[in-house]
Amino acid sequence: RKRDDVDVEKLEQAVAELDPRGTYKSFADLPLSEFTKAGLKACHFAALTDIQAKAIPLALKGMDILGAAKTGSGKTLAFLVPVLENLYRAQCVGADAGLSAMIISPTRELAIQIFEVLRNVGKRGHLFAAGLIIGGKSLQEERDALARMNIVVCTPGRILQHLSQTAAFNVDNLRMLVLDEADRILDMGFQRDVDAIVEYLPKDRQTLLFSATQTKKVSDLARLSLKDPEYVSVHESA
Ligand code: ADP
Ligand code: MG
Repeated sequence: RKRDDVDVEKLEQAVAELDPRGTYKSFADLPLSEFTKAGLKACHFAALTDIQAKAIPLALKGMDILGAAKTGSGKTLAFLVPVLENLYRAQCVGADAGLSAMIISPTRELAIQIFEVLRNVGKRGHLFAAGLIIGGKSLQEERDALARMNIVVCTPGRILQHLSQTAAFNVDNLRMLVLDEADRILDMGFQRDVDAIVEYLPKDRQTLLFSATQTKKVSDLARLSLKDPEYVSVHESA
């Protein structure tokens, strides 16, 4: 057996034994691949923020999550670490894996920021191919790039354009969907686009939804896109 297979088996066991409501202080307390641990270390991330401590164990165990925590609380790693880990353990990265995860962000700027964090945390040994689909390039160029991606970070309008116009855009292997800054996605009028995107995706996927605020619109979106979600929220302490 390959070293990777042994690694993955051990991780699967450790994740199965993980208490999803346990108290964790640092990334080192969690069952993560050596690759992710090395990437986090290289970026000088050690202690977990509150939202990360609550959301990551649940997400590692495959649950859907509705997470709310204010801006600056570390929501990006709360979903990127589970994306990297769950794809790694399922071994659905690499040339033949197809598109495994979609991360939707309200703006191009935020999408670029997420992509940079993914690149930095993922650069130590992980084999995924990731890319941005945020417009600004021709549809054909984006189409060719999409065909090679395992993880796409995108804006709603542009990815919907590909889903509706590109016959060859296959999302059958997609197993994780992230809706980041969901309140802003809705404030910017993307509700219909997101609803339409979700219609294209496989139903047996894991969905992580993060938002800075909990609004009626956010819970409506959650009802449509999540399955028995775990609610995770971090309140400001006075
Ligand atoms: P949010 O999406 O909740 O607004 P971000 O994910 O953008 O927050 O993170 C805000 C800042 O906190 C970023 O500069 C990020 O690098 C930093 N950060 C996130 N997680 C940690 C951590 N575990 N330890 C130290 N800094 C962190
Ligand atoms: Mg954010």
